[in-house]
Amino acid sequence: MTLNKDDRDSLVSRLRDLADEELLGVLQRVFTGRTLLGTEVPIVESHFFLGNATRLYENTPDGGQAWEPWEIHAIAYPDLAAYDADPDWFGFDYGFSEWAICSTCGIELRCNLKHGICPVCSTKVYLT
Ligand SMILES: [Zn+2]
Repeated sequence: MTLNKDDRDSLVSRLRDLADEELLGVLQRVFTGRTLLGTEVPIVESHFFLGNATRLYENTPDGGQAWEPWEIHAIAYPDLAAYDADPDWFGFDYGFSEWAICSTCGIELRCNLKHGICPVCSTKVYLT
């Protein structure tokens, strides 16, 4: 399926207007079952997830300023069971300020909630 330009522009506009946590909820549904082309074979597993790249502009020892290296985080999905929440609940609008490292796959995570699910390996995580 391919969208025409007007439909694509409308979709992009609607997605841009969403709060971060609602965008994550929408993309979680979009990404469910979606894999990289060519990885549908039994010996490969892949899936899409939302990520974020952040870097800081810091003072350097020589008195200048420079960009630090990028930090990459996967955005954890809300653990709705931990909150006894409705499937349409996106969590709080705190931004993705909670942080953890997944104990199973080791990826750094961000989430808007304390209880999340790693989007890479599906491990339940507690973020602080
Ligand atoms: Zn993980």
